[in-house]
Amino acid sequence: MYHQICGDQMNEFLYIGRLLSEDTFKRKKHEIVLADLPAKVDIIESRNGNMIIAEVKKSSRLIENGILQLKYYLYMLKKKGYIFKGEIKIPKEKISKKIELNDDDIKFIEKSLEEINEFLSLGIIPTPEKKTICTKCSHYEFCWV
Ligand code: SF4
Repeated sequence: MYHQICGDQMNEFLYIGRLLSEDTFKRKKHEIVLADLPAKVDIIESRNGNMIIAEVKKSSRLIENGILQLKYYLYMLKKKGYIFKGEIKIPKEKISKKIELNDDDIKFIEKSLEEINEFLSLGIIPTPEKKTICTKCSHYEFCWV
């Protein structure tokens, strides 16, 4: 990601995710790129005076990753002076979970960003570790072929 290398856009799991998002929320906006931010959100809307960004996921299996992703977007928006609330939507399971950014989240994100920057400054390529998730990952070919 740091070197702007995109995963395989034909990856069937990415494709299913895109289809799901398009089919389920036809009237809402999709894949909104937030200016100056490394973020692409699925839905952005105003509701009851709150600005909301939402991510649409295929299943709750990796919901913790989705929550972290959304909190990172909320953090980046807050740094730009925009206060948003977040939502994770899993249409197949009829789940809609509200996500808010708290002080502990901010500490965690800032510490993680520091660690990532330290790691990137070393200029070394990490050795991939094969995990069960690898077979569905859009970066599979970069790591294993
Ligand atoms: S190690 Fe596995 S999960 Fe990580 S980028 Fe490579 S294929 Fe994807």
